[in-house]
Amino acid sequence: MTVSTRIDEAGFVPASRLSTIGVSPILKIGARAQAMKRDGAPMIILGAGEPDFDTPDNVKQAACSAIQRGDTKYTALDGTPELKRAIREKFRRENGLDYAVDEITVAAGAKQILFNAMMATVNCSDEVIIPTPAWTSYADIVAIAEGSPVFVPCEAEAGFRLTASQLEAAITPRTKWLLLNSPSNPSGAAYSEADYRPLIEVLLRHPHVHLLVDDVYEHIVYDGFRFVTPVALEPRLKARSLTVNGVSKAYAMTGWRIGYAGGSRELVKAMAVVQSQSTSCPLSVSQAAAAEALSGPQHFLKERTESFRRRRDLTVDGLNAIEGIDCRNPEGAFYTFASCAGLIGKSTPAGKRIKTDNDFCNYLLEEASVAVVPGAAFGLSPFFRISYATSEAELREAILRISAACARLA
Ligand code: PMP
Repeated sequence: MTVSTRIDEAGFVPASRLSTIGVSPILKIGARAQAMKRDGAPMIILGAGEPDFDTPDNVKQAACSAIQRGDTKYTALDGTPELKRAIREKFRRENGLDYAVDEITVAAGAKQILFNAMMATVNCSDEVIIPTPAWTSYADIVAIAEGSPVFVPCEAEAGFRLTASQLEAAITPRTKWLLLNSPSNPSGAAYSEADYRPLIEVLLRHPHVHLLVDDVYEHIVYDGFRFVTPVALEPRLKARSLTVNGVSKAYAMTGWRIGYAGGSRELVKAMAVVQSQSTSCPLSVSQAAAAEALSGPQHFLKERTESFRRRRDLTVDGLNAIEGIDCRNPEGAFYTFASCAGLIGKSTPAGKRIKTDNDFCNYLLEEASVAVVPGAAFGLSPFFRISYATSEAELREAILRISAACARLA
């Protein structure tokens, strides 16, 4: 749904920069599924992009202590010194990255980091390369910054990963950024060192292209996959890259709204200017909590990832047993991105033809009470995304229902 730029009855005219931007299809489907649930449908919602675990107790405790101490005022513009030091250590310890404290910035979620970065750097008509399938917000944030998203479809056969020749072909003199996300929302695909190397070679040949890597799912990887981040592989990229991360996914802290990044001093300063005129600073109490998350015990991350792995296996195996559905085994995150190409062209018992992945997802919503998100929302069809950050029992039931619904298509 895009925002109408026509005058409404009250005379309200949205700015033209909103003309191509929609309310996130994920939120839209979620809202519809919630409404159906309220009306009594036995809905299973596999749309949400957040872990179902709780925020760890030590993190909650750190927040309570911050409140008691009176850390309840404005903080430094783009992060407290304590949190920036914890981030600096995290980058060193886990990623082999050496960012100084003034090369680090903190915002209200990785989403605001992306927003600050695009607003601070993108001029009208600058191009931003977005390999798809991609998280829906990338293109919309670029559009708000009045840049032009350049989508590069990455097929399932290529593991949903961008190749060097695709990147080379997409770069123009107007390219400002390449946005990469590993492990990926929605595909779960991750880039190994061997996958990144050829892309880095291309970037080194085009020094005007900046690289933004979104590593928010770095801790959720399976089967011994070794997570790497490009700046650690090639220090020459450091000056023109932004390494983005956050506490939402790893520490089940989506509601605390803390994201962070490492980048050049100049970029980080420009991003702080944007932030100074929007939110003034990240939430004080959440910053104390995030510092504890990054510096405190980390052992539960492995346990949680193991739990996600079991759910991934259950989901992928279940989907692949359904005729017409084909699902690649993702390396990370908590999503599967399955093809429904084998079901396109079939008809529902009510005689409605399934022409697109949107049609298929609507059919599942209405006839199986299962909410999933169509690939179209992420720029690649015909696919659908399942978020398996829910109980194994619910996933089993969802697979049974999807299977039965598919069997009814003719
Ligand atoms: N990047 C990706 C790929 C995501 O999936 C999300 C959340 N859905 C974010 C960034 C934003 O995370 P947050 O703003 O909660 O840190």
